[in-house]
Amino acid sequence: MIRFEQVAKHYPNGQVALHEISFRIQKGEFLFVTGHSGAGKSTLLRLLLAMERPSSGRLLLVGQDLARISNAAIPYLRRQMGVVFQNHQLLFDRSVFANVALSLHILGLSQGEISRRVGAALERVALLDKANQFPADLSTGQQQRVGIARAVVHNPRLLLADEPTGNLDPRLAAEIMRLFEDINRRGTTVLVASHDLKLIASMHQRMLTLQRGRLIEDGGKNP
Ligand code: ADP
Ligand code: ADP
Repeated sequence: MIRFEQVAKHYPNGQVALHEISFRIQKGEFLFVTGHSGAGKSTLLRLLLAMERPSSGRLLLVGQDLARISNAAIPYLRRQMGVVFQNHQLLFDRSVFANVALSLHILGLSQGEISRRVGAALERVALLDKANQFPADLSTGQQQRVGIARAVVHNPRLLLADEPTGNLDPRLAAEIMRLFEDINRRGTTVLVASHDLKLIASMHQRMLTLQRGRLIEDGGKNP
């Protein structure tokens, strides 16, 4: 589904964020990307989202080379993806329902279809009863779950998460991981950037380790 072939990323200021990294991700995989701050995790996610382009190499995502994709094709590409951020980036002046519905409006769906899909996404994160509340009324863990509902409401093929448990205590972090596992079991490929090695070890999934822009380890699942 995803193939990095000697992908390098140099920022305009000369900073080399990634040095010719290569790896593949199969459809339906669940994997982590880890490494210290500055290792290149966010850059890797931004390349997949086509927010940045590779400086060299080929980055294939479902058959398209993101180094060459036209700007016009990027919105279509993003519709196949969902993104979860550390600080969830919810709109505090809109209800939980409206936050989750955001990405569906641009798809031109009917009101009924939007309601049905938002309801299903909120049910998956066990927040259907909070649909009419506002993010400020929810706990941090619940807010992050709204962020996950928003990221999966359009049934993406690929879910990307950037430090999704950074602000959560270990119990809530484990709860978020169980939601990702559930989403993965339904067929979505899941890629989580995290520096929480303890949490990652508890998951027994593939882990890519970046160090100063180099892929230094591609660990198989733990026994
Ligand atoms: P991580 O997410 O692992 O902390 P990043 O991908 O954010 O790593 O950063 C990798 C390297 O690239 C760091 O040295 C960082 O300072 C640099 N970097 C990230 N974004 C930019 C940018 N927009 N311009 C210049 N340098 C950047
Ligand atoms: P993260 O920890 O998720 O990598 P950062 O705080 O490093 O986030 O980066 C936040 C934003 O600042 C990103 O959009 C990144 O592109 C940009 N950035 C990071 N490092 C640099 C840098 N050295 N020069 C310019 N922009 C940077």
